[in-house]
Amino acid sequence: PSANLFELIVARSGRPDQMALETSDATSLTYAALFERSARAANALVALGVEPGDRVAAQVDKSTDVIVLALACLRAGAALLPLNTAYTLPELEYFLSDAEPALTVCRPASLAAVRDLARRLGLSAVESLGAARDGTLAERIAASAPDFETVPRRADDLAAILYTSGTTGRSKGAMLTHENLASNALTLVDCWRFTDADRLIHALPVFHTHGLFVAVNTALLAGATMIYQNRFDPDAVLAAMADATALMGVPTFYTRLLDHPGLTRAVAAGMRLFVSGSAPLLAETHAAWRERTGFAILERYGMTETNMITSNPYDGERRAGTVGLPLPGVGVRIAEPERGAPLPAGEIGVIEVKGPNVFKGYWRMPEKTAQEFRPDGWFITGDLGLFDPDGYVHIVGRAKDLVISGGFNVYPKEVESEIDAIEGVLESAVIGLPHPDFGEGVTAVVAIRPGAAVTEEGVLAALEGRLAKFKAPKRVFVVDELPRNSMGKVQKALLRETLKDTFR
Ligand code: ATP
Ligand code: MG
Repeated sequence: PSANLFELIVARSGRPDQMALETSDATSLTYAALFERSARAANALVALGVEPGDRVAAQVDKSTDVIVLALACLRAGAALLPLNTAYTLPELEYFLSDAEPALTVCRPASLAAVRDLARRLGLSAVESLGAARDGTLAERIAASAPDFETVPRRADDLAAILYTSGTTGRSKGAMLTHENLASNALTLVDCWRFTDADRLIHALPVFHTHGLFVAVNTALLAGATMIYQNRFDPDAVLAAMADATALMGVPTFYTRLLDHPGLTRAVAAGMRLFVSGSAPLLAETHAAWRERTGFAILERYGMTETNMITSNPYDGERRAGTVGLPLPGVGVRIAEPERGAPLPAGEIGVIEVKGPNVFKGYWRMPEKTAQEFRPDGWFITGDLGLFDPDGYVHIVGRAKDLVISGGFNVYPKEVESEIDAIEGVLESAVIGLPHPDFGEGVTAVVAIRPGAAVTEEGVLAALEGRLAKFKAPKRVFVVDELPRNSMGKVQKALLRETLKDTFR
């Protein structure tokens, strides 16, 4: 039998007239309409020369047609390669020359420029897709036949190449299979109790694993409805809550909603689930959300390469500041970073993962792929963490962000938590900077609340006696806000670059 994820979605969908994607404009789609439009789009792809095993790159604004295109790729047996809409033309050049897509889909306004680029790179087809069903691909979709026989796929055939967020370096293309995506989404449907009665608010970008796979595949495999919003707007999310059951967001969604006076217990009363991921949710945000709405945010942890790895429980304690327990069927171990020997609970090591959720490797980077797997098949996430006595995983930071000062390991999160507890501090990022005596000097970048009187001296004084001397920052920089990318991840690499001469 075929392992095509699209066939699984069809098999699990319910009533054809149930809404799949509900929007505030004329682009809503019922399940029947979504399947039909994806058939037309698959025919359009084939007519443009896309064959099973090919790649289709897409840098387009969010719309329901992005989901149509994603399903069309599954149906045509092609791997979708979604690209961050923020990438500039020179950045696009890297991705296109790396991936060599059979078809590139871009925004209508960039069609001429992207066609030029593709011609230079020796790539052929480029079509455009706009958010209002405009663009050359939309025209082809409308003109194509409404039936398409979905191409059979094996479990380990590629469904997508998803580039990582580029938080620690250049983005890598993670090769994800039909089985990777299907197994993880089915697990999430169960763990988070999704059914066809659910109405999920979808306000995330769809070029990243969170918005594209966690949210969309979970909703579709439950036959649920997505309240689909093309960007995150706190007013629109709050308005949608009256008639929704679930929200998936990055931590910044939650902090921005908390800043909104319209967030009340009454507004959230009909909801059943708030999920957070992609970046650490501050325990303080978790507490504030509970206080305001009565709901404990369910925090989970995953990455492009592995899909979702751990989740706080649906029933049972959602422990703030942790990412919960390994998902069923997903192996998680904490290992000693050098050799990969498993460590006992309570000890900090690198988080490693094994299971049907783990990707096939980095696109055209066999050496990098080999480096990130242990000989016994465990994938090395690069995140540092520990198991607490109850089996909850605590993340203490990324291995690349670990600061080694005078030979001692300093885990950024431990220092950040102490700083965040200081009056007037909003949040902080602790980094290591080149230091002539210590190798790396612990440095804190501290974002303060508007009008707060927080100073370098004040932070240092407040930390006295709370942290071992070697962990205490040698410098503190007070700022209005921390630099973040579109998923709300703090860009520590950028901070390290900007401040690199601090101790020199
Ligand atoms: P790159 O690999 O290109 O440097 P990236 O790792 O940020 O970028 P993603 O795959 O989008 O790219 O993000 C995965 C990472 O996000 C994880 O490795 C982890 O560091 C972080 N992350 C995800 N969820 C959480 C969470 N709940 N708490 C803390 N960190 C999280
Ligand atoms: Mg990563």
